[in-house]
Amino acid sequence: MSGFRFFRRTPKLIQEHPRVCTALLLTGISGGSLLAFTEHKAYAHSNEGDSKKKKVVVLGTGWAGTSFLKNLNHPSYEIHVVSPRNYFAFTPLLPSVTVGTVEARSVVEPIRNITKNKPFDTQFREAECLRIDAENKKVLCRSSQDTNLGGEEHFEVDYDYLIIALGARSNTFNTPGVEENCHFLKEVEDAQRIRRTVVDCFERASIPSISDEERKRLLHFVIVGGGPTGVEFAAELHDFVTDDLASLYPLLKDHVQITLLEAADHILNMFDKRITTFAEQKFRRDGINLKTGSMVTKVTDKAITTKERATGEIKSTEYGMIVWSTGIGTRPVITNFMKEIGQGNRRALATDEWLRVEGHENVYAMGDCATINQRSVMADITEIFSKADKNKTGKLTVNDFKDVIKDIFERYPQVEIHMKRQQLKGFNALLQNSQTSSKKEVIDIEVFKNALSEVDTQMKNLPATAQVAAQQGVYLAKCFNNMEECEKNPEGPLRFRGTGNHRFHPFRYRHLGQFAPLGGEQTAAQLPGDWVSIGYSSQWLWYSVYASKQMSWRTRMLVVSDWGRRFIFGRDSSRI
Ligand code: FAD
Repeated sequence: MSGFRFFRRTPKLIQEHPRVCTALLLTGISGGSLLAFTEHKAYAHSNEGDSKKKKVVVLGTGWAGTSFLKNLNHPSYEIHVVSPRNYFAFTPLLPSVTVGTVEARSVVEPIRNITKNKPFDTQFREAECLRIDAENKKVLCRSSQDTNLGGEEHFEVDYDYLIIALGARSNTFNTPGVEENCHFLKEVEDAQRIRRTVVDCFERASIPSISDEERKRLLHFVIVGGGPTGVEFAAELHDFVTDDLASLYPLLKDHVQITLLEAADHILNMFDKRITTFAEQKFRRDGINLKTGSMVTKVTDKAITTKERATGEIKSTEYGMIVWSTGIGTRPVITNFMKEIGQGNRRALATDEWLRVEGHENVYAMGDCATINQRSVMADITEIFSKADKNKTGKLTVNDFKDVIKDIFERYPQVEIHMKRQQLKGFNALLQNSQTSSKKEVIDIEVFKNALSEVDTQMKNLPATAQVAAQQGVYLAKCFNNMEECEKNPEGPLRFRGTGNHRFHPFRYRHLGQFAPLGGEQTAAQLPGDWVSIGYSSQWLWYSVYASKQMSWRTRMLVVSDWGRRFIFGRDSSRI
């Protein structure tokens, strides 16, 4: 530490380590060993003093875990973070990292930067969680630094509250050869590997002794999966090749082929039809070989085998690089935990609407590794009715009904969503009656049931996106910030099952829209209210939204300057 930085930090050091500072003042700095000894004692001291603090263990430093850490502000916690990477990565920009539109370091923020000014103590362990032992309230971990630094370290961390935000892994659907031969695009390292491989393919194809056939193979880039990530990567790669590599490798440009394989009938299935059509037409115009209805059955080190859904035709094609992007699967540590707690048959960890793992009040899960078990209105309808029917007459007065409407909306978000879509004509009529009718009018259970009978049919799981994960992190941090106060004064929506009120409102997701960058400075945007915009103006909207969503001003500046650098100088094709 430079002298300047030491003095800048001195007042904080005195506050944090009073004993160390007193010892240093009294005895002078008389050697490294003494310093090490006093620091060690100070660490033990700070832990003793914090024994009343609740120990919260956060697993994962992705969107969910980092949003939680960033928004937690209550000093009554001692936070322990365990993650194999000591940084947060802005995943939506990973496709840009694969071709150098944005540099890898511009999309990451060290986790210690995020927690350093927080009013609570944070310990970060760069390690992987191997097992969650909810019965004994501890997690078992293994250090994840390079083993050259000296063997793996195994350790345990106990907790009062556990927050599981472990994300998901790429799903290969057990297709033979995928794990061994394909690139994935999940982590920053994956993006860096892809960038090197693209340049490798071009450099190898430039070797004069390589045959034309081999050159063609090397320059055949295959992307499997027509979801947002696959599509965005295909677009970025196409731009890289046409804007930058074509002029640097003029003899190779005619050999390049980009193929996008999708098993369904269309790419970007989760988007509005207009976006799907535009994207497909644009890719075909750009010369991207788009093959829908094509399932990959096997991958070897040089060839990919596909089966056409319509005709059953099996075809093998040689390739230089494959990027596999077909959705997400469960991490082994989550699978094992689910088995232990009786959720063995699920894809993700089931939580209630307060993000608590079912049956484990002190364990929370969010982001891609979890799914909220939405409560069905019809399963609870009798209880809802009887709770509303305070006088036990078997009929609800309009006032009784008014009293429960808010709780119904809160507890069963599907009701409000359907109402907004005007699909709940019966329920809307009831609601209007409740606002206009006299107190004498009554609703019996059959009318009540009929009005709500179709609500549950369209309950949907939340998508596995950064938007959901980040909102869940913010929500949970707010709950933890208010935990003490709420314990004294528990208010909140009715529990229709069980007794009593819950302390917090359930988690509600607010969809803010989604983007699909399509290359050539064109983006498709689908905003709330199914508002669709495609083209150059949406690209500028994309730039501003993604700049604003950065975790820090530092990364915001880096990303924006990378975009500027790319506009002026193009992308860097060096193989580093
Ligand atoms: P992650 O962000 O994946 O974080 C998981 C964390 O857990 C990581 O820190 C990881 O290191 C850590 N971890 C893993 N295993 C262990 C272990 N055993 N022990 C301890 N820690 C562990 N979503 C959008 O909304 N918009 C987009 O534009 C978008 N683009 C994307 C582009 C790409 C290329 C990718 C891959 C995803 C994109 N997503 C996007 C999806 C989004 O990134 C995920 O939904 C989001 O990251 C999920 O957040 P999470 O916190 O659940 O998991």
